[in-house]
Amino acid sequence: MVKQKNLAETSSTVRAGLGGAYSFRSVTRLRWQLPTELELGSHVQQNLAGGLSSYTIFAKPGDITADPARWKATPHRVFVNLPASTTPELGLEIVEPKAMLGFSKRYGLLEHNTVNDRWVLQVQSTASLGYISSTIEGFGPEEFGELIRMKSQALLRFAWKTGDKRVRDEIGRYTAQELQAQVDIATGAVVLNVANAWTLICMLFLRDHAAGKTAVCANPECPAPYFLKSRKTQKICEAGECVAWAQRNYALRWWRENESKASKGKLEGKAK
Ligand SMILES: [Zn+2]
Repeated sequence: MVKQKNLAETSSTVRAGLGGAYSFRSVTRLRWQLPTELELGSHVQQNLAGGLSSYTIFAKPGDITADPARWKATPHRVFVNLPASTTPELGLEIVEPKAMLGFSKRYGLLEHNTVNDRWVLQVQSTASLGYISSTIEGFGPEEFGELIRMKSQALLRFAWKTGDKRVRDEIGRYTAQELQAQVDIATGAVVLNVANAWTLICMLFLRDHAAGKTAVCANPECPAPYFLKSRKTQKICEAGECVAWAQRNYALRWWRENESKASKGKLEGKAK
């Protein structure tokens, strides 16, 4: 009964938002296997300023299918927060190879290009595309599309931070191309077949942005600042250190406001 009610609620929300006459329950089905024997390629490219520009990850195809039930955190949130190595002179960001290896092991590769029976994932910073400007704000749809195809963490961070509609449009276009939908005849549900971790990341981002959940933690020291709000007014993520930081900040502000009034009063009192 409860389940039925939830379904109905979901459907009416979808109807209201999209204006469709009929709504269907949908499920995602992850269609990729986790890799084994991951390794970093020997050819790691550096940019002019000595920073990391691109690298390659090789893996052997495994036979265990990716399973969300085994993940404590969602892949889009984990991926967007992976530590990035930066070249400040050029304003470039690229996911650190070690972090990318760890992510790939747990969630699977962002894509599955096969060369000589091995999966190959090329990770590039915007510099390897030959753009002189690396400020994503200045890019157009074509560059956005290219960054999405190259599975750019920097682009996802930008979209997460700004909610830029042009980027979301391109992510939507990309996701629509990548997804394969079918109807499950037993349940009547629409099944969305997802072929790799990057497509899932894009889908989850679009869903959570549309729900008003994507946010950046206000604590400048936050180790994983891209988070998902559970309340509309939430400004900081749920990490213990950020909650403590916010409480300290609040206490400090309160103290400044009230203590300054109090001491002003005291001073005036003394002067009389
Ligand atoms: Zn935080």
